[in-house]
Amino acid sequence: MTLFLDLDGPILDVSRRYYRAHQLCRGADPPAKLGPAEFWELKRARATMGEVLARDGVSPGEAPDYAARWRELIEAPAHLLLDQPWPGVHALLAAWRPLHQLVLVTLRQRPEALRDQLHRLQLAPLFHEILQASPEHPEGWREKERLLRGSPRFAAGAWVIGDTEIDIRAGKLAGLRTVGVLNGIRRRGLLEAENPDYLVEDLGGLSQVLEWTAAPQPETAARNGNGVPPSGGLRTRTPEGESPDQVLPGHSQGG
Ligand SMILES: [Mg+2]
Repeated sequence: MTLFLDLDGPILDVSRRYYRAHQLCRGADPPAKLGPAEFWELKRARATMGEVLARDGVSPGEAPDYAARWRELIEAPAHLLLDQPWPGVHALLAAWRPLHQLVLVTLRQRPEALRDQLHRLQLAPLFHEILQASPEHPEGWREKERLLRGSPRFAAGAWVIGDTEIDIRAGKLAGLRTVGVLNGIRRRGLLEAENPDYLVEDLGGLSQVLEWTAAPQPETAARNGNGVPPSGGLRTRTPEGESPDQVLPGHSQGG
């Protein structure tokens, strides 16, 4: 089976990089009002750039400059050093690799910086394929869908795993099974609204889902009345028999 895995969020904790870029983009004046945790919660709530700046005491007139600086700084090599793989991620990928085709699918603007980071973090050898496209597309999920469909490992029954609406929408457009991961850059309510097939706390939770769905038991017996399998906080949003490639509402609300 093919697992299409998103990088930023499910595999890497990018919160330190994002906060550092924000600090540099806003400048030292006026003094910051947002600490790292508050900033990250705003990002997880999908606050707009204007909202983040306003909460941090920066005038809206600064926003155009901020956006340009953000594009310049967010993937600067010095800042990519701040990303940290979540504990246990290497072991999970190594365990899945003999069983599944592992395809990394990421929207990054700098292919060389991505390649260097994946090698430095010893993640590159764990994947069978690495796909990357620009994050600048206004409907990132269509760009991601294009990457999915372009993979030689694209096949019915593949899974798309990610932490934002982009991943879930891309997977649905491609007719694949989708898994929302909650330890990334979107909070639970926003991911729930995208109606993924499964929601998991982290990639360790995905391990449980993979085992659970591979087990030879009827789906109805594996869930209680709330659709929660007995093994943990997992949840299916796709009743048995429902077409996985249903069209999502709300595509135009932006990412
Ligand atoms: Mg992500």
